[in-house]
Amino acid sequence: MEVTRRQFLKISVASLGGMMISQPLLSELKFMTRIDNPLDFYPERNWEKIYRSQFKHDYTFHFLCAPNDTHNCLLKAYVKNDVITRIGPSYGYGKATDVYGNQASSRWEPRLCNKGLVLNRRVYGPRRVKYPMMREGFKKWVEAGFPRGSNGRPPQKYFQRGKENFVRVSWDEAFMYAAKGLVNIANTYAGGKGQRFLSAQGYDPSMVEMTKGAGTQVLKFRGGMPLLGATRVFGMYRLANSMALLDTHVRGVGEKDALGGRGWDNYSFHTDLPPGHPMVTGQQTVDFDLVDAENAGLIIPWGMNWISTKMPDSHWLTEARSKGAKVISITVEYSSVASKSDEAVILRPGTDTAYALG
Ligand code: SF4
Repeated sequence: MEVTRRQFLKISVASLGGMMISQPLLSELKFMTRIDNPLDFYPERNWEKIYRSQFKHDYTFHFLCAPNDTHNCLLKAYVKNDVITRIGPSYGYGKATDVYGNQASSRWEPRLCNKGLVLNRRVYGPRRVKYPMMREGFKKWVEAGFPRGSNGRPPQKYFQRGKENFVRVSWDEAFMYAAKGLVNIANTYAGGKGQRFLSAQGYDPSMVEMTKGAGTQVLKFRGGMPLLGATRVFGMYRLANSMALLDTHVRGVGEKDALGGRGWDNYSFHTDLPPGHPMVTGQQTVDFDLVDAENAGLIIPWGMNWISTKMPDSHWLTEARSKGAKVISITVEYSSVASKSDEAVILRPGTDTAYALG
């Protein structure tokens, strides 16, 4: 059936009239009064408090961010209901002074990176290790009295790394097992017997000779990234040096002849700190003030992806460039720094030394 526009309107008005009679609710409908500012007449605005209060906090505290890198940014945590809800920069660098009264520049601000901003997720993360855990095989090896084969090596069944479980232990147990292990290794590899073990295990004769008969010299301490967060860069290296105290007991030598353990330094090769320093001096350094870049006319980041690995310091490179510094990066890839350089020298990995020698 065809319905004309006029017929449709008639039917609609009749239907509406019928509804108003049958449904008093609809009969209450009124046309709105015209208003100039709808916000003045907004019926309910309490919901806005949710947005206003979501960033409110009960208290704040400052802390030194040290997840696994060397920047040690001073950050500010915001706490609500005893939970860190967010993290931000401290904006306190400009107030810092050294022992001579020199005041730092506020240009260090805002000092943090995306990792620091979400550090609270690491604090509350399900994968956070909250108590000491020990590799099951190592624990059993210690409990079995450190059994070893004829060449000094422990049986493989105790060293199934990556396959074994980790077991929870108390801090006292963790310290006790670690100390027992250090003492046993230092004793095992001390003197001529220890050197014979090392030779039987295939170590290069010059390496064996370099131990000078100190079993502590085969103890390796590596300040790996996770540990650096807890102990800072030199914590593990200091622990390595302190093994000289153990050597005085194991070999009965005086302090002049006592030798510590070995510090294995990953920073020397991944260039988060100046790699040339340990190559020249044999000792790593943490003195790496990238702020000085703005005083340079030519900056050569060699093997260093400064923008990606030194996030809070990357702005110094930008500011140096804005002051006219020329940047030539030497790298194995077209890195973030390379993309900001006047020239990028892309080397085949492993050919740096040849390049340096011309
Ligand atoms: S650079 Fe980032 S992760 Fe490193 S200390 Fe600073 S805020 Fe923390």
